[in-house]
Amino acid sequence: MRATAQQPQRAPDGAPVHYERHRPEQTTLYRLVQQHAASFIAHTEASTGAELSRFIKDEIEAFLECGILAHGFLRLRCGECGHDKLLAFSCKRRGFCPSCGARRMAQTAAHLVDRVIPHVPVRQWVLSLPIPLRVLLAARPELVTQVLQAVQRVVTLHLLDAAGLKADEGQGGAVTLIQRFGSAANLNIHLHCLVLDGVYRRGADGSPAFIDAASPTDDELHALLQSVIERLMKLRTRRGVLVEDMGQTYLAEPDADGEGACTLRPLQAAAVAYRIAFGPRAGQKVLTLRGAMPREDRARQPLCADIDGFSLHAAVRVEAHDRKRLEQLCRYITRPSLSDERVQLNAAGQVELKLKTPWRDGTTHLVMSPLEFMQRLAALVPRPRLHLIRFHGVLAPNAKLRALVVPQWSAQPQEASEGVVATACEAEPILFRSGRISWARLLKRVFDIDMHTCPNCGGGELKIIAAIVERPVIEKILTHLGLDPQPPPRGRAREVVQD
Ligand SMILES: [Zn+2]
Ligand SMILES: [Zn+2]
Repeated sequence: MRATAQQPQRAPDGAPVHYERHRPEQTTLYRLVQQHAASFIAHTEASTGAELSRFIKDEIEAFLECGILAHGFLRLRCGECGHDKLLAFSCKRRGFCPSCGARRMAQTAAHLVDRVIPHVPVRQWVLSLPIPLRVLLAARPELVTQVLQAVQRVVTLHLLDAAGLKADEGQGGAVTLIQRFGSAANLNIHLHCLVLDGVYRRGADGSPAFIDAASPTDDELHALLQSVIERLMKLRTRRGVLVEDMGQTYLAEPDADGEGACTLRPLQAAAVAYRIAFGPRAGQKVLTLRGAMPREDRARQPLCADIDGFSLHAAVRVEAHDRKRLEQLCRYITRPSLSDERVQLNAAGQVELKLKTPWRDGTTHLVMSPLEFMQRLAALVPRPRLHLIRFHGVLAPNAKLRALVVPQWSAQPQEASEGVVATACEAEPILFRSGRISWARLLKRVFDIDMHTCPNCGGGELKIIAAIVERPVIEKILTHLGLDPQPPPRGRAREVVQD
């Protein structure tokens, strides 16, 4: 999260004003996108002869406006001390914006712990997929739902069995986060399922009782992964979406929806395989820097099964009372794909992307040209309307038992709780630069955690008094406050230099 400092100033109407002093435009990531977005779009479209998908262009555009006061802001006033605060609009996108990603992580994790996950033991089940399946799911995200159903079905049957119940005698519950990236900001679609580690059975009076399930053994876990794979392979043959070639599996048919397929597919395929999609080094591996000692290959881990590129990991379990650790786990699985600190430029003008943890061979950084880096960012952008958080079993939105098992104080419907889920799950089509934007739409463009308490007196409640979206008014206020009234300039499309 960015540090913010507050400085009292006066607005043109004399009101004392605080404004966020963090400057997204000064981060390396912002500057890279600012300078190279136009070149990246032009070059991708020239290489493929097709238009880059609208949702990727929108994401880039929204990121460049995120947190920039010159693109408009809310004016908030403290009910106690009368000070004003300016709050720039956030992009709230899910692809690569580090600041929106960090805030979404904090909100989603708090929401899951406070209002969704019952006070029972929880086990994390992580399913990773072989590279060809990652490519398939990137191109056809609707198939993720079927993968999820297969995993849920297999794990729930296991839990019922481990609790000594028949299939119709109890119900499980889970929250799944569909994570779209790995530690190198590579596209790596995998599933983190937080599964209640047992099942609910309804008593004679209708109230649900939780029955703990015994932990799976390594052999059981292996068998569970085997049945997940069998269910998925049935899908494959039924739908004919994959073909085998040279020992690898590839997509057999073009994108069903067609939109942007020619530009998206190579970007996504390159991003999963750590390769470069277009440009002078197309098809080559991304360069790496080794700064750490190679690690010994770890011995086989407990509760981690590997079969043919699939892996299923189930070693992490959180006790019912350990809500703090549960929240840490929720934060970990909802973390953003990038943080500002991990993106730096070297003296040669190349991007050095720091890995979250060094690879086993000692690699600490990936080195890319700015355009190669832009390719990777583009592949991280999820399609609009793709829900990345799913609820299953007793936690499904329409489940009969839901209200009886979620943490008690949230049993009454709360607007805010649903709001957070909507924030985390849904893409928000935003009309940029449209003259008339509704209040509801404007409010969707800020995070509510910014609006609670006054930075001046620390206790007053902030209320929105105006939304400043018209250029002349923006310019007048920012100029008066001694801030730059102009949005940061954009780089123009350039020829790609051969290196
Ligand atoms: Zn943002
Ligand atoms: Zn105040």
